[in-house]
This record gives sequence, structure tokens and C-alpha cells, in this order.
Amino acid sequence: MIKINDYIPIVGESIIEDLRLLAQKLKGISVKHINSTSAGGGVAEILNRMTPLLKDLEVDVYWDVIRGDERFFEVTKKFHNALHGRPEKIEQADFDVFMENSRKNINEIDTGTNIVFVHDPQPIALINKKTDNKWIWRCHIDVSNPHGGVWKFLNDFIVRYDSIVFSAPIFSQPLPIKQFLISPSIDPLSDKNKELPQETIDSVLKKYNITPDKPIITQISRFDRLKDPLGVIEAYLEVRKYIDCQLILAGGTAADDPEGIQVLEEVKEKAQQDPDIHILLLPQNDIEVNALQRASTVIVQKSIREGFGLTVTEALWKAKPVVASHVGGIPFQIKHKYSGLLCHSVAGAAFALKQLLNSPEYAKKLGENGKEHIRNNFLITRHIRDYMLLFLSLYHTEDVVYF
Ligand code: UDP
Repeated sequence: MIKINDYIPIVGESIIEDLRLLAQKLKGISVKHINSTSAGGGVAEILNRMTPLLKDLEVDVYWDVIRGDERFFEVTKKFHNALHGRPEKIEQADFDVFMENSRKNINEIDTGTNIVFVHDPQPIALINKKTDNKWIWRCHIDVSNPHGGVWKFLNDFIVRYDSIVFSAPIFSQPLPIKQFLISPSIDPLSDKNKELPQETIDSVLKKYNITPDKPIITQISRFDRLKDPLGVIEAYLEVRKYIDCQLILAGGTAADDPEGIQVLEEVKEKAQQDPDIHILLLPQNDIEVNALQRASTVIVQKSIREGFGLTVTEALWKAKPVVASHVGGIPFQIKHKYSGLLCHSVAGAAFALKQLLNSPEYAKKLGENGKEHIRNNFLITRHIRDYMLLFLSLYHTEDVVYF
């Protein structure tokens, strides 16, 4: 079991001391996180790691997951796409399915803690259960340009929360409640991010029949159109004209994402059995993700929309050179030409990939800068501090609080 003190060698003692002081101030306050899946995707990833650490800090914290039938997750996927700006036909029947499932969760989930911390749209209607406790809605997705009436539908719930949290200022919306900016984070000691022996990396490559005899370009993402796996293949094919290299497209499908299998089929078709394109349907296995990232020469994240892009954070922490789209939270992590390269198109991605593969020293420098940028800004210790300050702020609406 990981302890908060285990982070001292990575971030320094004073940061951990601050966390202990803040945790003391939260004595007597219980908090419950609620989201829609316990595995798959960035939110589950963070909650899996953060909950035990908050407990170690003696914060009275809980985590619950809502349930929903297949129709519910189809509707919430449509909501997700529409919030990301994709045109979706959403009908009254969809809203009805959403509410029908929400009512069941309202009946079943205990929200009696002092603070209820709801993540993303799927559980948003639980706010109907609010009493005199404090409620936070944490929006992990890019809602800078939502399509259609979904935001309006959600807005009726959102305004009843005490506070809302976005990952980036560009996502913020005109709202009558307090808004906070808190970036997500990664855990440097998780199986996903810890150092790995070379034998482990080699054995994972072997398992997937990948020979590291030529540069490896990798994108690890759920098979989702917004991650643009087809665009990654196009960029790779362009690079391939000049540099002998291979591509790994690896991902699982999250429990709350019914579209994944279809996208995977499209990807396989586009790859047309090119032996240098490795399409891996990963089991939920963090060591494998870690090993694939570490085995890569360059990591790509060619998303069309992105909340924050934890895969970018993970890659930079491993000091990998990264090419990623200038969307969502990615520019917070990648300062162009300092901690990676940003791109705006398939051609741009291909150009950046060629540049990095042709200039290993430059690529190495970007990776090293990226690692320090993540250490200073996007590790779980900073995230825990921000959440504890957020919790305290709910009880100090009038005062200015100094810590
Ligand atoms: N991930 C994983 N297995 C997969 C695909 C993704 O473990 O097959 C992880 C990935 O390493 C990252 C998270 O899921 O930790 C994805 O977070 P991100 O913010 O990049 O995207 P999201 O899926 O939340 O849109």
C-alpha cells in the first residue's frame, strides 16, 4: 500500500508537510467522489490512486460509482460527443433514459457525506438529492464549444452545485456559481508510471510480437474518434515514406464507451495489414501501458478534442518526446519546442514526427524538459493539495484563508 511519505524523494519533504497541514484542517469533514466507471479512462485512473492517498492523510474519503443500463451509456456517450462539439441527434427519449437511470442512482447511492464530489455529466443529476451539504461538479471534458442543447440540459443541474471545477480556463462557462481551475495529474508511483526494469519492457514487446529494431511511434488511447487513430495512421504513413519506423496504436475500450469496438474495426481496416502497424487491444494492464510508453521512441496524441490528455502527462514523465494536438489541456503540458511539439493537422503531426526521429538529441532534450514540467505541475501531490484547498474553500466563502 502506497503511503504519502513515499513521494518525498520525488517532490521533496516540504510539499508533503503542506499536505499534512491541510489534511488536519479537514478533520471532521467527509467527502465522497462519484463517477461512472471504476476502470478505463482518466477519471477512474486518478480516483484509483488518489482515494488511498487521501485516506493515508486521514481525510474521511469515499468513492462510489453509478450504474446504468446500455441505453444510458449510449446516451451519455452522445452527451460526451455533443459537449465536445460533435453534432449529435439527441431527442427527448434520450433525456428520458438519462433521467430514468439517474433516478435509480438517486435512490441507491448514499450522498450523506459533508461534501459530494461528482465527476462528469453521467452522475450529474444526483444533485437532486442535495440537502444542506456541499456539492462540487468536476468537469473533466473540453466544453469550450458544446453542440446543441446538452449544455442547457446539464446547466439546470450545474447551477445547483456549490462549486464547479474545470481543467483549463478555456472550458469555463458563464455560470452563477464559483468556478475553480484544477489540472489533473498522474501518480509517479503507480504501475502506469513507475520505473520498470528493461526485462519487463522487453517481455511486453515480445508478448505483442514487436521487435524494437526500428523507431517506435506510439499512441495509447481508447479507440475513440476524438482520439483520431485514423489520423495517426495517416501521419505515420507520411513519415514512413522517409524513415523506416513502426507504429503502435494501443488501447482498450472503457466500460462507459459503447463506440469503441466500431472505431477499432475502422482502424484495422485503415491499417490494411501493414506489418509495421501494431494494433493492440490492451487488457486493463498498467504495467503493459507503462512498458509500451517506455519502449517508444516518440509518443503521439493526435486528439481532435481532449479534456487534459493524461497519456501526454504519462509520456512526458517518462522523458519521452511527444507530438500532440494543440487541443484541450495539452498546451498546458507541452510548451511548443520546449517540452514537446504541438500540431494542428495530420501533415503537422507527420512533420513533427519526422523532425524528432531525425534529431535524437533534440528529441531527448524536449523529453527531459517535459519530465521536469510534469514534476513541477502535474503530479498527484499537487492535485491532492488543490482538492483539499477546494474543500476548505467551501466552508470559507466569505473569508480569505491563508495557509
Ligand atoms: N489508458 C489505459 N489503457 C488503454 C487506454 C488508455 O490504461 O487501453 C489510460 C491512459 O494511460 C491514461 C488514461 O487511460 O491514463 C486516459 O486518460 P486521457 O486523459 O488521456 O484520456 P480519456 O480516456 O480520459 O479521454
